[in-house]
Amino acid sequence: HNFIIAIDGFSSCGKSTVAKALAKKLKFVFIDSGAMYRAVTLYFLREGIDMKDDKAIAEALENIHIDFIPNDDKTEIHLNDEDISDEIRQMYISDMVSEVSTIKAVRQAMVKQQQKLGRRRNIVMDGRDIGTTVFPDADMKIFMTADPQVRANRRYLELTNKGEQVTIDEIVKNLAHRDHIDSTREESPLRKAEDAIVLDNSYMSQEDQLTFVIDEYTK
Ligand code: C5P
Repeated sequence: HNFIIAIDGFSSCGKSTVAKALAKKLKFVFIDSGAMYRAVTLYFLREGIDMKDDKAIAEALENIHIDFIPNDDKTEIHLNDEDISDEIRQMYISDMVSEVSTIKAVRQAMVKQQQKLGRRRNIVMDGRDIGTTVFPDADMKIFMTADPQVRANRRYLELTNKGEQVTIDEIVKNLAHRDHIDSTREESPLRKAEDAIVLDNSYMSQEDQLTFVIDEYTK
């Protein structure tokens, strides 16, 4: 059978960095589930979808097609054939994505697609509910945490390196806001799966984190 690795945790803990490195090492496919919620958010904002209008949401979900397209070393995420990889990382998406992610119909549609992406291939998927809801039977589950200040600093460097105008304070607020909504929402809230291994990477190098997960994999 195919091997599934679930990596969940709070916002900006470095989940995707570990997930990417692990997938590369094991020659697995890396899937960023958060990028899918970001893509839906971008679509909703562009189309002015009313988040309380179930019919408009259902219709929008019918019209949203998300693809992961490998390109050299990177994987692009496409929304209806448009490369939106950079757009979805911007603050205005981060500010809305957790609200959009509370919508039941949105989650149902994404979980279905995520399960399909994990059929018949070895994958590393990162997110919030991968080990609990999307793949409760995953072969390996990691739950990542890190000190909030460390997380904010990392995100700050990442965004300002890309030229985005943002303050540390805005980032601290955004991370706290998303963590709160993600862990208190009704539909598959963020929580550690019982059988997940905890990785607190506050003071670990990327290399050490990769060694940690590889060790778990080969155990
Ligand atoms: O992983 P990333 O921070 O890009 O995810 C953006 C947002 O998408 C999260 O803050 C969360 O609200 C939502 N999300 C989710 N379930 C997932 C992945 C992401 O609700 N599996």
